[in-house]
Amino acid sequence: MTNSSYEEEAETMTKVLISADMEGITGVTSPYDVEPGSPRWQFHRTLMASDINAAVEGFFGSGATEVVVNEAHASKRNVPLDLLDERASLIIGTHKRLGMMEGIDAGVDAVAFVGYHNGSGHQGVLAHTYIATVILDVLINGEPANEGRMNALLAAELGVPLVMFTGDDLACADASGWAPAAERVVVKRCVDRYTAECLPPARTHELIRAAAQRALAQIPEVTATASPFTYEVTFDATHAVNATTTIPGVEQTSERSVAFTLPTMLEAIRCFKAVSTLAKASAEPKFG
Ligand SMILES: [Zn+2]
Repeated sequence: MTNSSYEEEAETMTKVLISADMEGITGVTSPYDVEPGSPRWQFHRTLMASDINAAVEGFFGSGATEVVVNEAHASKRNVPLDLLDERASLIIGTHKRLGMMEGIDAGVDAVAFVGYHNGSGHQGVLAHTYIATVILDVLINGEPANEGRMNALLAAELGVPLVMFTGDDLACADASGWAPAAERVVVKRCVDRYTAECLPPARTHELIRAAAQRALAQIPEVTATASPFTYEVTFDATHAVNATTTIPGVEQTSERSVAFTLPTMLEAIRCFKAVSTLAKASAEPKFG
């Protein structure tokens, strides 16, 4: 093989990372649907696998040569591996430095968010930001930042565009504001935080597959947001402030809020992970 054919081969490689959460998966409406170990979770984890597989199928149908799926929900052990499309691989397990975005680097050509949801304090099926009852609000540089928004900022910093987003109608509408070029797939219509009008998997899987196929046909340009990044996090109770300001650089800004500023999203998203982990650990069962 000549050098030029090596180069041609390198040019045609297309790697896609799928970050898969659970609240925005087809048919999911209840906290029990996403609670590892519950009977309802046992069923909905199979729907999570099939939403992911629909995306994998679409990406391979449009020229992807590698698809890596990162588990991004709860214990990160939801998808039964034997149900995963055999062309993909799956990052299973917790304690990942980049959490929901483990696997992202400059070698990834496109990222997709499957099963995502709206942020805490906003209408949307199972809306929350990381820690459902503890974190009330997150702003980045003064703008509302749910999980999708902050993960897309990290991807953009590494030059990786978000090409597809799936979830309920309100999460998709929100994503249209910060990722207008990404394909969006509405798998359910929010009626309330715990109620939705759901399309059956036979419908949503075709929608997801077709959107994934379109998404790689024309990968959008991506522009990194100017640094630095200032996170402002508001909690439901004061003790989370004491717990999280043990992290150097995290400062109290009001009775129930903290803030920190870092030069890159790579650093900021890791600091936020530490903040959310400590905030969760500071909560007492039943009392918060
Ligand atoms: Zn989530």
